[in-house]
Amino acid sequence: MPRRGLVLVVSAPSGAGKTTLCKRLLQEDPEIAFSVSYTTRPPRPNERHGHDYFFVDRETFERMIAEDDFLEWAEVYGNLYGTSKSQVLKRLEEGRDVLLDIDVQGAFQVRQKLGREAVLVFILPPSLEELERRLRSRETEDEETIRRRLSVARKEIERAKDFDYLVLNDDLEEAYQTLRAILRAERQRPFRRPDLLERF
Ligand code: ADP
Ligand code: 5GP
Repeated sequence: MPRRGLVLVVSAPSGAGKTTLCKRLLQEDPEIAFSVSYTTRPPRPNERHGHDYFFVDRETFERMIAEDDFLEWAEVYGNLYGTSKSQVLKRLEEGRDVLLDIDVQGAFQVRQKLGREAVLVFILPPSLEELERRLRSRETEDEETIRRRLSVARKEIERAKDFDYLVLNDDLEEAYQTLRAILRAERQRPFRRPDLLERF
């Protein structure tokens, strides 16, 4: 029997460094793959269809909801975002891990659907001031969007206590090593390692 795959759910207020941390994890760990979400948000200049997201119109997204294609979906900052159920389940059945970069509402939906198959990690910025600085430094959003994201951030952080793990992203290297350690340890839980136990 192979080891069982896990779903690593990473959530954070926008600008906390989630994309930076997740990209590195995906580059360095061949056992985990990114679940490419569907969204109705227009692509940013550096984003590729099928790589960062599947960019679809609202009609397509709503049809997918009706057909029960999503493991979870949510409205975030006025756009719809959803995780493909088939993409995730296929990967798990192969005994490999899946990384979901999704918002807090989506994280709790995944916990409800998948129970202990999912590991919920919340990335915290050092402070709200630093979060604002990082959002501005990225230069991808306008002023109104930045303000909206900061006010949502406060509410998201209130829900962080219900996650399995917190990772403080102050020093980037340290935060990355903590994220790696969580994944490494979670892979060793007995229910995920029938392959180890069946040797005896
Ligand atoms: P998110 O995906 O959470 O919205 P990003 O990964 O895009 O956030 O990071 C937001 C900005 O903050 C980026 O410009 C990124 O380079 C920067 N950043 C990420 N982590 C750190 C850190 N530990 N220290 C300083 N800047 C950081
Ligand atoms: P962005 O538009 O900056 O790429 O993402 C905005 C927010 O939507 C981020 O918090 C991101 O994690 C979240 N998000 C991306 N994909 C999904 C998804 O499939 N489901 C949910 N619930 N949130 C998502």
